[in-house]
Order: sequence, then structure tokens, then C-alpha cells
Amino acid sequence: MTSRSPFESFVWQSEIFNCQSNDIDAFYAQLAEEVNRLGLKKNTLGSVDSFAINLYQSASQRSDLPSLLISSGFHGEEAAGPWGMLHFLRGLQPALFERVNLSLLPLVNPTGFKAGHRFNRFGENPNRGFTLENGKPTPNEHTSLEGKLLLEHAQLLCAASRDGILTCHEDVLMNETYVYSFEPTQTPGRFSLGLRDALGQYFKLAKDGFIDECPVTDGVIFNHFDTSFEAFLVRSGAKLAACSETPGQEDFDRRVQANSAAMGQFIAHCAPIL
Ligand SMILES: [Zn+2]
Repeated sequence: MTSRSPFESFVWQSEIFNCQSNDIDAFYAQLAEEVNRLGLKKNTLGSVDSFAINLYQSASQRSDLPSLLISSGFHGEEAAGPWGMLHFLRGLQPALFERVNLSLLPLVNPTGFKAGHRFNRFGENPNRGFTLENGKPTPNEHTSLEGKLLLEHAQLLCAASRDGILTCHEDVLMNETYVYSFEPTQTPGRFSLGLRDALGQYFKLAKDGFIDECPVTDGVIFNHFDTSFEAFLVRSGAKLAACSETPGQEDFDRRVQANSAAMGQFIAHCAPIL
């Protein structure tokens, strides 16, 4: 993490959406269209400046269905995550909600997104400081404003991610893709490899070695526990988790499509058509 500059601005032009990657008004307007079309229920967790931090959920949550959470936009310069979610939503039909309780956090860090930089406008890293103390969700000195909002709603988010959490990040330094994944096994299984392969349709896989001091093998960093949101949800009981990393040095729209494909693969694995 040390080599990524928290306030360097990254902006790309999207041909798919016909706007710049940090056009937050265009993003929210198009997101609202899909939320309406799909009949998603809005749950406002709080706000940062004038921006609401919203969780969207499929309207009828059923106890007999898998509960899956997809999040994006923790780091402001990783813009293909939120736009990838919008691309993914555009391809969805409401019939999906007959087989999955879907919850979405499309844009966790709006002030960073708008500025095109990594941290929020207070200089905090929104994907750090998610800790448990005696099993209780607890912020620490690294927890951002956004992180505190998420921790305040930990019970809701844990229920929403019971069967799986996918969080979509990007690595602006890279030309290759990789995935952090969590499974209750010694080695990566079909969940991890399926996501890696979905991303691998779009980009070369990261070479074996170390990224941010984590060992990467065949494009996977496996069961790496830190104070991230995704590791917190695994500690809190999520059965499967992954953090996808698309390469910020590559074409923006291709990264959008790769994020969308990763979301599709996540649902296909965790809520298969029987
Ligand atoms: Zn990130």
C-alpha cells in the first residue's frame, strides 16, 4: 500500500458511459435508473458531506436464499469498480432475486471518487480499521468516517454477506490482474479460481511473487487477514470472500467490463442456477 499515493488524481474517459470516470453526478443518475428498474430497496447508512452512503437490497429478502453482498468504490481512484457495478446492474433482470438476496454498496467513498484520489477528503483510508474486540465490531485509530458508518451497521452487513462478499478494487500501479480470496480451506478452491479466471479473460494474471508484501500465486492472494472490510466480514462469519483487483494501467472500459464479469461470476458461483 505504501507506494500508492493517497491524493494523486486519476481520471479516465469512458466510452461506455460517455463521461469521465469521476463524474459522480452521471454515476448517481444512472445508478438511480437501475435501482428503480430493479425495484431495489434503499437503506441510507449515513452521509459524507452531501453524499448519502447507500446500501441497496433486493426487495424481498428470503431466509431460504443465499445472501450475497457486492461492494465497490472504497478507494476513489479505483473507479472501474463502481462503474463496473453499474454495467453489471444494467445486465440484470429482477428474476435473479428469486434465487439470491442481493445487497449492494456501489460507492463507499464518494469524496475520493469525485476527486479521483484514493483516500476520502479527510485523508482517511476507507478500507482500514475494521476490527473486532471480543467479537464486537470496533473502530480503531485507522477507521475512516465511511468505515465508522459501515461498522455502525455491521449487523445488517454481516447478514447481507452471510454466504459471500465480493469487493471490487483496482490496482493503479499494475498492468496485470489478481484477486484476494478467502475460503475455509488450505488452498484456493473453485470460488477463488473462478473469479481469477473471470478476470483473466480480460487481463494477464500477476506474476508469482509479492504484492503489498502478500504472496501471490497463480493470480491469487489467499486467506490474507488484515483490517479491511472484506477480512472483517470473513471474521464475522461470511462463508466466502474476495477482493478483485483490476489493473489501473489498462484500458478503462475493459476494466469496467472485467469488474462486471467478476460480479457475474461471483453470483453464478454462490447462487448457481439449480
Ligand atoms: Zn483499493
